Amino acid sequence: MIRRLELPERTIEVSIPVTMDDGSLRVFPGWRVQYNNARGPYKGGIRYHPQTNPDEIKALAFWMTIKCALLNLPYGGGKGGVTVDPRLLSRGELERLSRGWVRAMFPNLGPQVDVPAPDVYTNPQIMAWMTDEYSRLAGRPTPAAFTGKPIEAGGSAGREFSTGQGGLDVLTALMSKLGRAPKDTTVAVQGFGNVGYHLARLLQRAGYRIVALSDSKGGIEDKRRLGMEPEHVMTSKQAKGMIDGMYCIGSVCDFTNYQAITNKQLLALPVDILVPAALEDAITEQNAGAVQAKIILEMANGAVTPEAENVLVQRQITVVPDILANAGGVVGSYFEWQQNLASEHWTEAEVLQRLQSMMTQAFEQTWSKAQQHQVGFRLGAYLVALGRLAEAMKLDHPR
Ligand code: NAD
Repeated sequence: MIRRLELPERTIEVSIPVTMDDGSLRVFPGWRVQYNNARGPYKGGIRYHPQTNPDEIKALAFWMTIKCALLNLPYGGGKGGVTVDPRLLSRGELERLSRGWVRAMFPNLGPQVDVPAPDVYTNPQIMAWMTDEYSRLAGRPTPAAFTGKPIEAGGSAGREFSTGQGGLDVLTALMSKLGRAPKDTTVAVQGFGNVGYHLARLLQRAGYRIVALSDSKGGIEDKRRLGMEPEHVMTSKQAKGMIDGMYCIGSVCDFTNYQAITNKQLLALPVDILVPAALEDAITEQNAGAVQAKIILEMANGAVTPEAENVLVQRQITVVPDILANAGGVVGSYFEWQQNLASEHWTEAEVLQRLQSMMTQAFEQTWSKAQQHQVGFRLGAYLVALGRLAEAMKLDHPR
């Protein structure tokens, strides 16, 4: 099984020609890695980022395989991407690129084949264009081909913040095991996009004190430790407006009431909980020794490197791994897919209640496995997930 999991089942590389607004032609490289489908259709996001590359997407697709198994979802794992800085494209160029990705990938997608979703710098509008393009090519409306769509285009209530909500559900379960309450618990969040913003907002609402936030341009710290209001910070960030391609040009740094800090400083702040929610490799062997938090809630995929984790474990810092902490996103996607297939609409309350139940169950199973084998949460989570994958892969093992 390990040998089969060392390589993805399929890697699709395409080139996507896009006519730019000035009439010139640019060709963008795009990928979809279909890692493993022993448990169901491939499932995973699409990333638009200037540094994304096939190796990164392969790693992300592998983690999706493990995550879906950990949450016991009827999915395998996949991931896609385009090497592009989407913030430099106009809205029209972004739409043509997104539709082009679907045209190039069409034979390998579909509700029972591979179901993409948003990831870094992709969002519900992009999912709406992709779903529309897929439906045109398929010759019928096919909302279940993509998840993370706007509600009006077949999206689910609660999906937009389900990753953050799932992170809160897992943290709540952990805090209750540790006999700790949110009140007076300080938190620093790196990354203020879909995941970081919603999690910060929900944590603040649950009684935690958000004392530092950051995005790609830098961060802010509340030196007085009174607690920030993430919604106000977002309003300030958005006050700078949207660039043509619909990305916000503001930064959390525009919020001048607090002290400016760098992303590096944020990771080393004296807080109770540290939340990396931006990109992979945020906490490495080099800076793990400087972390002062006692709990790391790894919301970004691959935010803690394996070498860093060894340092953190030695320093008795609890790491809640990405495959558990951020699984609320794919659970929300699973609910959206189910509703699309059954032509149903669930209320937000229904979605959140089901999400909490699945996240808490995955946390409890991880906790028990970790206790049983005297290992950290990440290994505990892998043991649960690999056990399920092994059962499925045994059944379809080619003779
Ligand atoms: P996003 O594009 O909405 O936001 C990314 C944020 O990170 C932005 O605020 C950006 O300014 C910031 N950022 C970028 N580079 C940074 C840097 N070097 N330092 C600090 N901040 C930086 O992306 P997202 O959807 O919030 O995804 C964030 C992470 O969560 C990724 O690892 C993604 O794979 C993971 N994730 C996302 C979802 C989802 O539902 N969107 C689900 C599971 C996991």
